[in-house]
Amino acid sequence: MALPSATLRRIKPSATIAVSQLARDLRQQGRDVIGLGAGEPDFDTPDFIKEAAAEAMRRGETKYTAVDGTPQLKEAICHKFQRDNGLTFAPEEISVGAGAKQVIYNALLATLDAGDEVLIPAPYWVSYPDMVLLAGGTPRPLPCPGAQGFKLTPETLERAITPRARWLILNSPSNPSGAAYTAEELEALAAVLRRHPELWVMCDDIYEHIVYDGFRFATLAQVAPDLRGRILTVNGVSKAYAMTGWRIGFGAGPRELIKAMATIQSQTTGNPCSIAQAAAAAALVGDQSFLAERRRLFQERRDLVVEALNRIPGIRCTTPEGAFYVYPEIAGLIGKRTPQGGEIRTSEDFARFLLEQVGVAVVHGEAFGLDPYFRISYATSREQLERALARIAEAVAALEG
Ligand code: PMP
Ligand code: GLU
Repeated sequence: MALPSATLRRIKPSATIAVSQLARDLRQQGRDVIGLGAGEPDFDTPDFIKEAAAEAMRRGETKYTAVDGTPQLKEAICHKFQRDNGLTFAPEEISVGAGAKQVIYNALLATLDAGDEVLIPAPYWVSYPDMVLLAGGTPRPLPCPGAQGFKLTPETLERAITPRARWLILNSPSNPSGAAYTAEELEALAAVLRRHPELWVMCDDIYEHIVYDGFRFATLAQVAPDLRGRILTVNGVSKAYAMTGWRIGFGAGPRELIKAMATIQSQTTGNPCSIAQAAAAAALVGDQSFLAERRRLFQERRDLVVEALNRIPGIRCTTPEGAFYVYPEIAGLIGKRTPQGGEIRTSEDFARFLLEQVGVAVVHGEAFGLDPYFRISYATSREQLERALARIAEAVAALEG
């Protein structure tokens, strides 16, 4: 058996998943580790959603379903797009997969040929470039530094477009920076996109409901309806409804693309879990009022984390508009020496130092394509966050030089 294949050699394991697993393993070995690595809500899935799953099982919904989603779930998704985004979609314009992750991957596999480029504003979610590589394409990271709010500007976009550029991936609110685009900012990007009709846009809106300070979420298909023929709008139930383990995500876009994605899914995984589909449908059409309370709790945690980080010399943290991450900059810590005599040369050194010195797991910025930063997920309790931040302050105070 020839391991690794050429395909496997192109990619690396997901850093976010690796850090979450490492924290889990260390805790199982009895180490006192606070995990700020995992990008998932600490809240439980609401009971009415669990109940819908139990009912689906009792009704015998335990068989294969239509490969890219049951009619009932597709209808619920159409309802969601209408209610939340003012977008009208037909069921044939909807694709359901085992998480937004599979939906994104299907779309890339269905459209990319060797040499095709995908424009990815950095910092980006770790999986985009590797999924592009798996699909045989070429990721083109577009640096969007903190000084410009971690957002893609029309100028940067215009300069980055080449004849081989097939997709732009826009993730708002962003993992890992939490930056979110206003309708006006999207409109300015749309003006560039109109000049380049070959370029498609994948809008990853998975953190749509997690926005703060009254921020009004907007998505490109709504802001620029004339571009809808080349937009895939991706979303899912993982983050808003605390359903990461259920594995349901969806995409909405042009029929030919949706059909092509179903072809790929029909030959790989088949339909997503029938029971999880019933639960997701209940989540999308059910009472949405708990979202506001969770948003409030997340905002309190964001404020606590940003404030505590900015009190630590050498760390600078901007206040994000959404998601449950902060992406602090650590240029002021590079070159410092650890009490053990090592040197902090990279964000990866810093993340390792935090884990070894004080038992706090974070994800290094290098994995997100913009350094020197690190990512904290604050989707954990206030008490844990307070303890973790005290530990980070203590660790940084121990650095010399
Ligand atoms: N997009 C982004 C930006 C994410 O952070 C995640 C979380 N893993 C996903 C997509 C995928 O989510 P899921 O597959 O759980 O729907
Ligand atoms: N999106 C989450 C994160 O970034 C979950 C893990 C993953 O799929 O990457 O941590």
